[in-house]
Amino acid sequence: MSYDPDNIFAKILRGEIPCHKVYEDDATLAFMDVMPQVDGHTLVIPKAPSRNLLDADPAALGPLMVSVQKVANAVRKAFAAEGILIKQFNEPAAGQTVFHLHVHILPRSAGSELRPHSGKMADHALLARHAEMIRSALTA
Ligand code: AMP
Repeated sequence: MSYDPDNIFAKILRGEIPCHKVYEDDATLAFMDVMPQVDGHTLVIPKAPSRNLLDADPAALGPLMVSVQKVANAVRKAFAAEGILIKQFNEPAAGQTVFHLHVHILPRSAGSELRPHSGKMADHALLARHAEMIRSALTA
């Protein structure tokens, strides 16, 4: 399977479609998942193209995980989460639906149920507010 440069996250990286950005550096971009399984559900992607973890350049993985840790701590703080769930799917059989490597960050607390994966589109004003909360936690 090869990388499709017209996948939706590649379009976000090129600025062709919008996202609710929470963090960016030379190697990575983090933004709100538009169909959040829980409030605060955030995605972190490398800028380097790969379908998923399996074909990624190993050199991209260190910077990716550094950003995942940074954003995960900000998500935990912004949503007063008791824990953070990290998910990452590889190929359709494993549940992958967008074929540019991405890591899911989900704030978790006792008693909060996860909504279905790729379920319902969230309200954009709400996503914008959540992105702002995470950006504030990143700079605090
Ligand atoms: P996966 O199954 O790991 O490939 O998940 C892809 C994720 O991307 C799902 O959680 C979707 O809700 C999310 N998603 C799809 N399109 C967009 C988009 N345009 N902006 C942000 N998140 C998206």
